[in-house]
Amino acid sequence: MKSLVLLFLATATTAFTAQPKIEMSPFGAVKGHPVSLFQLTNEKGAKASITNYGGIVTQLLIPDRNGKLDDVVLGFDTVNAYVKKTPYFGALIGRYGNRIAKGQFELDGKKYQLSVNDGPNSLHGGKLGFDKVIWNARPFFSKDGPALELTYLSRDGEEGYPGNLSVTAIYTLTNNNELKVTFKATTDKPTVVNLTHHSYFNLAGQGKGDILGHVVTIPADRFTPVDATLIPTGELRSVAGTPFDFRKPHAIGERVTANDAQIKLGPGYDHNWVFRKPVGKLTKQARVVEPKTGRVMEVLSTEPGMQFYSGNFLDGTLKGKGGVAYGLRTGFCMEPQHFPDSPNHPTFPSTVLLPGKTYENTIIYRFSAE
Ligand code: BGC
Repeated sequence: MKSLVLLFLATATTAFTAQPKIEMSPFGAVKGHPVSLFQLTNEKGAKASITNYGGIVTQLLIPDRNGKLDDVVLGFDTVNAYVKKTPYFGALIGRYGNRIAKGQFELDGKKYQLSVNDGPNSLHGGKLGFDKVIWNARPFFSKDGPALELTYLSRDGEEGYPGNLSVTAIYTLTNNNELKVTFKATTDKPTVVNLTHHSYFNLAGQGKGDILGHVVTIPADRFTPVDATLIPTGELRSVAGTPFDFRKPHAIGERVTANDAQIKLGPGYDHNWVFRKPVGKLTKQARVVEPKTGRVMEVLSTEPGMQFYSGNFLDGTLKGKGGVAYGLRTGFCMEPQHFPDSPNHPTFPSTVLLPGKTYENTIIYRFSAE
């Protein structure tokens, strides 16, 4: 039963455009705690639905070249489906996006053991990462568009990580059709942190087939090759002459099954690209075009790396929104972040956060059509 729907309207209206709004509705309960769904609508009529369970973007309605809205992210219709089993569809990822080898690291001479949840490794924060917790939510209108502030206090020792980590993530659906995520975090003990966002995109519309025809550009000349458990070997390898060279546009499908040792490990793309820039500088990290609908997504971030994952583990067993089975490579992720397993690689940009310092990270998914 659809019960209370709260509607927030921005006070300022702009000529020739729709009024931005935020609608809040119940989205069931997790372990007896009610959770909500917030639908943000910007001036252009684009919509993002976000739940405070895991900070999950459940729906993202973006216009194609004819102005037709389609939902461009994979996900489920109910919160229970997310609780039951999800490959991190649409979620906020923390404390540590990506893998930490054997769930172990050392900081200031002290050894830490994290919860292990991916073969021998700790993935995306462990068994109960930030994608599986309930965040406090505060919807508001920012100058750029409707927004949702999510806050969470991760206690000292949670999933094995040291320090009480206080995290704020703000989603903004800007009036320029960008989904922007800004993170801030502080700690009371030295710790490691690497936050990101994990939407599976399909710019043709979720449930409308695979993403092999999407054309990708990634302006990075190196990537981090991995071992059989997808942990970086430590090498920063040139992309030149490999299926990882996206400096010129290539369709995902063109080389995703290439006869290449690194591709075979994915199998497909499941790697971190390395950007030559000062950490903290907002730069473009990817451009993706879906030729049939003309939808374009640009990814910008302040992070030194970006994991491009081609949905290699989707196998048709998960039934998503509207009951559609999500088959192999029907969605892809672009996850700006620090490099995987950085706590065990002193040569990688540091993921250490000290008391008195603030972790900051901005990710922008910018949509347009051509
Ligand atoms: C990782 C994949 C993993 C997926 C989980 C991605 O960020 O790179 O290896 O399988 O998340 O769905």
